[in-house]
Amino acid sequence: MSQQYPTYTVSPDLPAWVRKGHTQYQNYHAGPSEVAKLVLTQFSLVGHTIEDLLSTGGAFAGDITPSTVWDRTNKYSDEFLDEMKAHGKTLIQVNWSCGFSVDAEEVQRDILTEFARKAHDRDMRICAYLSITNIFWKEAFEKEPFLKEWLAVYSDGSPHLYGNSKGRYLACVNRQEWINYLKAKVRMAIEGGLDHIYFDNVFADCACSLCHEGFADFTDGLVGTRHDLPVIAPRETRGIYSEPDDEAERAISEAEAYSREYLHKQYMAHRLTEALKDIRDYAFTLKSPLPFSANNHLYPFINDICNVLYSQDTRLPGPDWNNVDLLRYLAADSDGWKTVVTNHPVDDADPRFSMAEAMAFQSYPYGITHMPYNLFYRDHPELFTDVEPVAKLGVVMEWPRRRPNYLDPLAYGNLMYEAIVLQKWTKEQLSKYSAILLPDLEAVSDELVAALKEFAANGGDVIATGTSTLYDGFARPRERPLDRIETDVTPESRLGDEAVQRLRRATDPQPIEVEGPRWVIANLVGKSDGSTHLVHVINYAAAPAGPVTVRVNVPDRTFEQATLFSPDPDAEQQDIELTDGVSFSLSEVDVYSIVKLS
Ligand SMILES: [Zn+2]
Repeated sequence: MSQQYPTYTVSPDLPAWVRKGHTQYQNYHAGPSEVAKLVLTQFSLVGHTIEDLLSTGGAFAGDITPSTVWDRTNKYSDEFLDEMKAHGKTLIQVNWSCGFSVDAEEVQRDILTEFARKAHDRDMRICAYLSITNIFWKEAFEKEPFLKEWLAVYSDGSPHLYGNSKGRYLACVNRQEWINYLKAKVRMAIEGGLDHIYFDNVFADCACSLCHEGFADFTDGLVGTRHDLPVIAPRETRGIYSEPDDEAERAISEAEAYSREYLHKQYMAHRLTEALKDIRDYAFTLKSPLPFSANNHLYPFINDICNVLYSQDTRLPGPDWNNVDLLRYLAADSDGWKTVVTNHPVDDADPRFSMAEAMAFQSYPYGITHMPYNLFYRDHPELFTDVEPVAKLGVVMEWPRRRPNYLDPLAYGNLMYEAIVLQKWTKEQLSKYSAILLPDLEAVSDELVAALKEFAANGGDVIATGTSTLYDGFARPRERPLDRIETDVTPESRLGDEAVQRLRRATDPQPIEVEGPRWVIANLVGKSDGSTHLVHVINYAAAPAGPVTVRVNVPDRTFEQATLFSPDPDAEQQDIELTDGVSFSLSEVDVYSIVKLS
């Protein structure tokens, strides 16, 4: 008899300044700690010569000069706050603790305590970034030699490095002493007047004796077997949910090894969640309500203890690539109330695509300053708050970046869907949909398979692709998986025509029908109070698209008024013509248009 995975919650308590649609994050890591971190990281990378490091650029490598050092060191200033304020930013994330000793970080804390005071004078808030695992060992071991006992280690006993940097070791999150040590740093942040806690570097596979015991206990509780830890060896910046891309390597020749690997990922996510929860509960005793978040990389459990969701897993979108699957996943995982922030490097690209995409799918892109878009977001909270998806299709998702492009055809085909988070499905939720897709979802619990059979028996369509349901919830082979189509799925695959056609048939008429170029994606949402519907339209191509014609099919609903909003240059808010109370046409979409239907 199998047990269940643990579950976690957080109370829905957030200060008004960080509620969904009312906050604009900006990250800026600076100050002396950040400069020391960047130099140490860059110049201790395994396998690089000094010539490589000086020529490859990157943060604080080839570009290092007296003025870049000065600017980065002194960035936490009045001028910076004024600049962010002018962009409508309400919250700035700063480097509070990245793994130096408590003593060494004092200079940084002094700067940030002053910075927080200045921010509060401008009605802005400061979020403290802390690393949950990182140690800059050379400095830290001198001041705090006890840290040597708390390291995460590979199976050969050597220290687990952060991102192949020999200057950075990781700590084991199973060491209670380490967690208590971090609590002291959190307490200092709250006493220093910082408003929000955020943890990064949420990974550290470890093969110490505690982790061996802990994993055996965990698997014993779930499947009745005390599993040995898999071998933990250096890999380039390996996260706990990384997966070999090579199909042959991934193929399951040995069932037990596969199940053990899967359970180990669950174990790591569970342990990181327990560690974060312990720190969170302590922080809540010091200040409440307190926004608390972690860079979760979409592992299970971790989002469930946070009241703000924070992901660095989106990527620069374009005509052939979008982040809609991930944003829909995060929207579902936000339980309807948690603020969601996402980010990816934009470099020299037009930031409007990243901004528009995140905003259209109820996230906020925290790293971007683009004055018209920032101010538009600030001035129109009604377009981004208190909305619900309109979808007849549910897609069960565990970890959206496992098959990065797989669901793109749904987005480019403007099939509205809602993510069903694998660990959080309920029968009530399943019953909302006409069809449910399992997109190459290998490990699915017996309970969910039974519920899907019941859903199908009641007239719903269940479409399973790839390796879906070949394994149970603990990744053990299932004797009778569900019928599957398009079984040859690889990491580069996209959902095929057969699946898309079947999904379309099962959910016709579509909630929204869009006529326009293939790279125009719409998202239909309804205000929670039922008063209005909103159609967010993004043109992912560099040139304006048009005309774009949209028909909205909401049962028993026609509209009297359509109003167009856009943050793009020269766009004016205006009423546009409605046909039959359900259709409208946009002569041109530059990057982002929103139509409010009431
Ligand atoms: Zn350990």
